[in-house]
Amino acid sequence: MKVGSLGTHKVLGLAKEKKARFLLASTSEVYGDPLSHPQKEDYWGNVNPIGPRGVYDEAKRFAEAMTMAYQRFHKLDTRIARIFNTFGPRMRERDGRVVPTFILQALRGEDLTVFGDGLQTRSFCYISDMVQGIYKLLTSEYAAPVNLGNPQEMSVLDFAKKILEITESSSKIVFKSLPEDDPQVRQPDISLAKKILKWEPSVSFEEGIKRTLEYFQQRLISKQED
Ligand code: UDP
Repeated sequence: MKVGSLGTHKVLGLAKEKKARFLLASTSEVYGDPLSHPQKEDYWGNVNPIGPRGVYDEAKRFAEAMTMAYQRFHKLDTRIARIFNTFGPRMRERDGRVVPTFILQALRGEDLTVFGDGLQTRSFCYISDMVQGIYKLLTSEYAAPVNLGNPQEMSVLDFAKKILEITESSSKIVFKSLPEDDPQVRQPDISLAKKILKWEPSVSFEEGIKRTLEYFQQRLISKQED
């Protein structure tokens, strides 16, 4: 919460002093557990402020509000990217997110831990597409929030099955309890980004996973050599 709120405030102040352009890396989490699907930028969201995810969601919502206030009141030149699930090489192994977790479980022959019934959905965007989207937004003149992500949606259970298929792993799928307030669905509506940035993702899910898998395989090999 401190990074998202106080940290954003400090950097906005610095941008104002230096007359710099400011880009906020916001998140699809501002939509919370969305009641509108897919999510468009004009949806206000469904966030539990006092749940375990509230610290992140509310800090980012505060950051967006403050960024818009600096833009309106101080005429600061700002951009807001609402970043949806993104993956690729160099993700941290143990940050708990589903892509590195499942890939490493599959490569190590461990059980894949699907939370809940696995029917909750996510839409995964490959990192190089995301970087291009952010760059295009930064160099555009558009000041209101823009969704950036890949609309290809899948359930977490299907994602686990795909990882097993691609890695040809003999790991099993096991079901664990669903974390509190885990969003049931998530899929970006990227019509705005397509229109104003002329941007849409071009790396397929399979290609992105292949590249990410190669990275983690390499890491496992170099660890064994250490
Ligand atoms: N998830 C899972 N097993 C894991 C880690 C995550 O089933 O070992 C699920 C999690 O409950 C969520 C989805 O995968 O529904 C994406 O989780 P992640 O933490 O990667 O991102 P976020 O929830 O922020 O979209």
